[in-house]
Amino acid sequence: MKQVLVIGGGPAGLTAAKALADMDAGVVLVEKSESLGGMARELTCKGLVECRNCGVCFAIDRAGEILREPNAEVLLLAEVVSAQKSEAKYAVKIKTSPRYVTDDCIGCGKCVEVCPVQGKAIFPPTGSGQPNMYWIDRSKCLHFKKAKCEMCASVCPTKAVDYEDRARNITRNADAIVYATGIAAIDACEISRLGCGTIEDVLSSVEVERILNEKGRLLRPSDGKPPKRIAVIQCVGSRNVKAGVEYCSKFCCKYATKISQLLLDTDPEINLDFYFMDLRTLYEPQDEFKQWAKTKKTVKLIRSMPATVTLGPNGKPVVRASGETDLEITETEYDLVMLSVGMRPQGTDSDLAKALGVAADKMGFAASRKELESQGVFLCGAVMGPMDIEETASRAIAAASRIAGQKEARP
Ligand SMILES: Cc1cc2nc3c(=O)[nH]c(=O)nc-3n(C[C@H](O)[C@H](O)[C@H](O)COP(=O)(O)OP(=O)(O)OC[C@H]3O[C@@H](n4cnc5c(N)ncnc54)[C@H](O)[C@@H]3O)c2cc1C
Ligand code: SF4
Ligand code: SF4
Ligand code: SF4
Repeated sequence: MKQVLVIGGGPAGLTAAKALADMDAGVVLVEKSESLGGMARELTCKGLVECRNCGVCFAIDRAGEILREPNAEVLLLAEVVSAQKSEAKYAVKIKTSPRYVTDDCIGCGKCVEVCPVQGKAIFPPTGSGQPNMYWIDRSKCLHFKKAKCEMCASVCPTKAVDYEDRARNITRNADAIVYATGIAAIDACEISRLGCGTIEDVLSSVEVERILNEKGRLLRPSDGKPPKRIAVIQCVGSRNVKAGVEYCSKFCCKYATKISQLLLDTDPEINLDFYFMDLRTLYEPQDEFKQWAKTKKTVKLIRSMPATVTLGPNGKPVVRASGETDLEITETEYDLVMLSVGMRPQGTDSDLAKALGVAADKMGFAASRKELESQGVFLCGAVMGPMDIEETASRAIAAASRIAGQKEARP
């Protein structure tokens, strides 16, 4: 049986792992965080009335499947320490950090209720991350400090808290490695002129996704009321030479248009102004969003990159923007502003990347796919370039097929 190591448990790594397991390969999936799903864990399903093909459920479903997959070993809170190549195989050393909660966890949340630490020291998985198993952050937990607290263990109905859990060093052999370390969303506060971090009701799209995913509806952070006037601002951080992100992140037009539609589904009376430079709905039937917007009296598409977002006299964010001709300057007050951020690749400048021969191109994305593949290292997902979940998944299946195809070719 061919053995494949998959690094990264986001949509790319999960899809590659599942496709490989279906092709009878043995898979070891290494994920550095506490759960599977990658960026998709924090994203919301955008289809309230009908499916909008946002792809988010796809990634979460793959996570559930891979956890049930007999051909796959999933290592969470895990990182590859070294990968030594000899003959056609890699000897891979992996270190896992202790979780302090065992597989017996049923995700009831009783432990969080009693934890006395401000901000808590025991947590559920991020967003929709799988498996639904809690974990303890040792650096915050009083058990490992002088206080010797054991409150979570005392209320846990399944005795799942294990303070004796230890780090483990694991060695596995691999015929091929899938490198799927993914993305980091751009921090909207890097672009300080748009009110991020200084105006409470200015949220990044990551925050909006997270709130919608957790609570099912968007409320103003300042007063908990549903916003009635919303501005969506595109290309925040992307296509910005100063910020070092010259490229279009490709998926933000897709998710922002779908979030806008979702918001109108939840409240058809919302007034929504959508500020954009270009509408790059690469993945959608052209003009679908524009056609939809035409049918909504309360939605306005404004071709402009706003200059600033400031706090207005009523304590609400005010967007200052020029019109398409630059002759007219508008100042419009909103209840809430969403800044649609793009992405940077993650994991292309690490020691692991160097050890595996993964090099970054001038934008920071993983490059040199062909040379790497002859060494048994397969790039996969958005670490290679901006792409949405659907494109990530189809490329992951293609990479898995190439690995399976190398079976006879490699010694
Ligand atoms: C705000 C926002 C909204 C979005 N909305 C949508 C949407 O609605 N629809 C859509 O199709 N796309 C959307 N996307 C894009 C989508 O998130 C990406 O297409 C997708 O996450 C790419 O998957 P990936 O597996 O390549 O990377 P990631 O999702 O980033 O997963 C990478 C995984 O690798 C892990 N990892 C990294 N380094 C290591 C390491 N050294 N060892 C072990 N593990 C490691 C990470 O912890 C992570 O779990 C959105 C993106 C953003 C920022
Ligand atoms: S031992 Fe105490 S401090 Fe630590 S996670 Fe449990 S309840 Fe919180
Ligand atoms: S109380 Fe126990 S079973 Fe419930 S979430 Fe916490 S660790 Fe898991
Ligand atoms: S996908 Fe849209 S919002 Fe994102 S960088 Fe490209 S043009 Fe801007």
